[in-house]
This record gives sequence, structure tokens and C-alpha cells, in this order.
Amino acid sequence: MSKPKVFVTRMLPEKGLDLISTIADAEVWQDELSPPHDILRQKVRGLDGLVCLLTDQIDAELMDLAGEQLRVISQMAVGFDNIDISAATKRGIPVGNTPGVLTETTADFAFALMMAAGRRIVEGERYVKAGKWKTWGPTLLMGHDIHHATLGIIGFGRIGRALARRAQGFGMRILFYDDQVTEIIGRELGAEKSVLDDLLSESDFVSLHVPLTGETRHLIGERELQIMKNTAVLINTSRGPVVDPEALFNALSGGEISYAGLDVTDPEPIPENHPLLSLQNCLIVPHIASSSVATRNKMARMAAENLEAGLKGERLPYCANVGVYQDG
Ligand code: NAD
Repeated sequence: MSKPKVFVTRMLPEKGLDLISTIADAEVWQDELSPPHDILRQKVRGLDGLVCLLTDQIDAELMDLAGEQLRVISQMAVGFDNIDISAATKRGIPVGNTPGVLTETTADFAFALMMAAGRRIVEGERYVKAGKWKTWGPTLLMGHDIHHATLGIIGFGRIGRALARRAQGFGMRILFYDDQVTEIIGRELGAEKSVLDDLLSESDFVSLHVPLTGETRHLIGERELQIMKNTAVLINTSRGPVVDPEALFNALSGGEISYAGLDVTDPEPIPENHPLLSLQNCLIVPHIASSSVATRNKMARMAAENLEAGLKGERLPYCANVGVYQDG
């Protein structure tokens, strides 16, 4: 019997690709960049399963082009804002994602960005490598303490809470803003529930951990940046469009906040001539918060397991649209 037909939109870590190649007749896109949308439109025709990444736009038209035999879309990421989930549900296609395994790794990275931005580590490294280090300077590259500072966490789900656990070790005061999370859960992690504006005005560090939705797009814009302290540091490891980039540029260049540490940007990748890249007080890295060897391998494996279940017509172990199943 022939194996099901699958397209994988990029080279995945080995742990995932090994499983995919044993269960499916898989074509793997070899380029460093994701396939252009018109190529993807050709590749999906006749597929039984699609393995994709957050850099692929998976819309209703693409699902229809694939055909009725398409029985699973498996994404190697926890976020799935690039996929038209309601269109998939309507067509009875389960969508897999990879929650949980990247929580601790992403929280590590948010904390690393907080320290790197707060303590100006990248600026310091550039200074040394540029041959500018002549002496110990009493005011050289003064930053902001992390220990005992106030941390505001927006979105208190898996990653937000994992960040709070790290912050406890640094004696930080922790505030969180998330309507779906009770005060009691917060208290267990030493965090106080707050309304958005109080969190913004009281925090020395603000870290974003919400999914990208219609409601969270530009959640941090001109008004919110104005409320923040002039000394505040903004950390974003969620999704780029949660922050309005123009408002962020104005706030950083106008001294409304002191620093930003961004793992994600809007657009992504950020173009070389983007105004944010001209700022010393904006640290930007290329969406690598979940990128540890162990975690990326686990994510790839989970994506492969979701694919396998979907191809067999079984319930996906990690499903982003459980509404696709009759028992929800
Ligand atoms: P999660 O679902 O466990 O937590 C998200 C929390 O945000 C939930 O508690 C939810 O109630 C809250 N929320 C939603 N809308 C909100 C709003 N308007 N205001 C305040 N809170 C709101 O998700 P998670 O696993 O913690 O991941 C969060 C997001 O981080 C993902 O959706 C993904 O986009 C992003 N992420 C990025 C990376 C990276 O590599 N940079 C890695 C993992 C996850």
C-alpha cells in the first residue's frame, strides 16, 4: 500500500524528519526560506498531510486547493496565528501544534533578554569589539537592576508563569495582567493580579506573553508606552504585531521608555533599513526564543506525532482546534 502524501515546508530537526519519512511519502522543502505562497499552492494539491511553520500562510483557499483528502495540518510551533483555524475546523481538518515543550526554553530566553537589555550586555560587547574600552568608567554603560525590580507580565499562561517562577529567584515584585487567570493562581507564584494600566505604570520590566489575536494586535501602542516608566524595559517574545512598531520607535527614540528587547518583530524578518535597527536601546534577535537543541528536536517530534495521528484518522495528541472533534 502506498504511503500517504505529505509536504513539509522546511528542513526540520532530525527527530521529526526521521519519523515523518517512515510514515509518509514526504517531500521536504530544502530552501532556507519558506516556500513562496504560489509554490505552496502547487505543492498542497493532492496532499494527505501538511507539516508547516509559523512563516507559512495557511488559508481557506490553500485547504481547498489541497482537496478533501487532506486530513491533518501539523504545525511545528505553539502559536498558530498564521493558520485560518476556523476554516480548518469547518472543513473537518485537525490542526496540530506543539504546546508545553517550549515553555521553559522560551521563558529562559525572555529572562535572558530582560537581563541583556536591562544590563546593556550587547552594547557592552560591541563597545569592546570596537576597541573603545580604555578604562574602568564610573558611569560606563549604566543599566537597570533586575533583582528586586518590578516585573509586569502580560499574558499569564504557560510561558508567563514560567517567567514568574524565574523572577521569584531574583526577588522581583511580579504583577500580571490576564483576565483568564485568577488571583489565587497568581498568588501561588508570588504574583499580584493587576489591571493593564497599573501594571504598565508600576513595572520596571514589562514582558509580553499573549497569543496574537484581533484583540492583542497592537496591545502595546502609543498610549500604553506613554503610561510606562521612562526607565522601563519592554520585552517581547510573543508575536511582533502585539507591539505597534512605529509607536515603539517613537517611545525609544523620545525617551518614553528606556529599552526594548525583541525576539519577534513586525514585519518579520525586520528589513535592514527599519528605523528600529538604528537605535542603540533596541536589542533585536531573530525569533530564537525556543531555539535550544533539545526543544527544537522535541517540537519536531511532536509535529511528526501529530501528523502520524492525523494520517491514521486518530485524535491528534496536541490539537489547536479541538472543536473539529464531535466531543470537542
Ligand atoms: P498560553 O495560551 O499558555 O498563554 C497565553 C495567555 O495569554 C493565556 O493565559 C491567555 O488568557 C492570555 N491572554 C490572551 N489574550 C490576552 C489579552 N488580551 N490580555 C491579557 N492576556 C491575554 O500560551 P503560551 O504557551 O504561554 O504562549 C504564548 C504565546 O507566546 C504563543 O501564543 C506564541 O505566539 C508565543 N510564543 C513565542 C515563542 C517564540 O519563539 N518567540 C515561543 C513560544 C510561544
